[in-house]
Amino acid sequence: METLLLKGKAVRDQVFSELKEKVAKAPRKPGLAVILVGDDAASSVYVSHKEKGCEEVGFHHETHRLDASTDENTLLELIGRLNRDRAIDGILIQLPLPKGLDQDRILLSVDPAKDVDGFHPENLGRLVSGSPRFVPCTPKGILRLLAHYDVPLAGKNVAVVGRSVIVGRPLTMLLSLKRSDANATVTLCHSGTKNLGEITSRADVVVAAIGVPKALGPDEIAEGCIVVDVGINRIDAPERPKGTRLVGDVDFDALNGRVAAMTPVPGGVGPMTIAMLLENTWEAMCLAEGLDG
Ligand code: NDP
Repeated sequence: METLLLKGKAVRDQVFSELKEKVAKAPRKPGLAVILVGDDAASSVYVSHKEKGCEEVGFHHETHRLDASTDENTLLELIGRLNRDRAIDGILIQLPLPKGLDQDRILLSVDPAKDVDGFHPENLGRLVSGSPRFVPCTPKGILRLLAHYDVPLAGKNVAVVGRSVIVGRPLTMLLSLKRSDANATVTLCHSGTKNLGEITSRADVVVAAIGVPKALGPDEIAEGCIVVDVGINRIDAPERPKGTRLVGDVDFDALNGRVAAMTPVPGGVGPMTIAMLLENTWEAMCLAEGLDG
């Protein structure tokens, strides 16, 4: 069986060019503020991708890099300032925050109308209640990617592995919404799930958001399945000049040729996450300015 590769980069390019066109006609540039606390290497890379994305589509952007020892009040004051800043439509706190900072309190302090990551309880609540506003970027990107490749979800059995508030939990909510690009039957699995392989091997679609390299392979995923690999894991690769490489949460090589479709890592879900962040920022500006979008 030839496995269709669900390439997020191509879809991201399309979203970017649509946004670029809209920005050219907009009354002002949408603005995104990113707050990065500490010097986590992976977070720095993600932030630089977001900066590049903003440049590419013509958004105003600013990155606030704070020392890991920054106290909570300083951070809350900065968020308060950005909440009031009319040039800023979206505020993103790069996670994880250093230990000692109360992540829940900090996310709660972001104006829900500028919460383009969709992590504020108000936006998560809207998603659960069935009338979403800002949907977390990775789950939103997964649905967009599958829709682009005409992979139907309605009526399908989807196993989501991983229940983080960033990916698995909101994705479960999104997939189960009664709308044409969703309407799936969803099972949310996690480290406490018994017989994980039995559940995933019965699913039409498996989404892996675990953070464990190559955790799922042919024993857990049936032939002909649709596989969405969210994981980004850096593993040793002495053959590479850098000595490391990125792999997902599924065993790509073992599944390639057995499953119907699969996202590559890198180049699958990752680019979609950034595209949806920029789209959410555009939507936030439209809300702020009373535009149709
Ligand atoms: P978290 O560590 O927050 O959550 C991992 C989840 O996987 C938890 O629910 C955990 O269960 C579950 N889990 C861990 N081990 C197992 C196992 N052996 N069997 C079943 N479930 C397991 O991770 P994130 O959701 O933040 O990220 C997951 C992966 O996705 C990471 O590799 C991350 O880098 C990547 N990622 C990629 C993005 C992209 O744009 N492509 C965006 C965000 C994340 P429990 O709750 O019981 O601990």
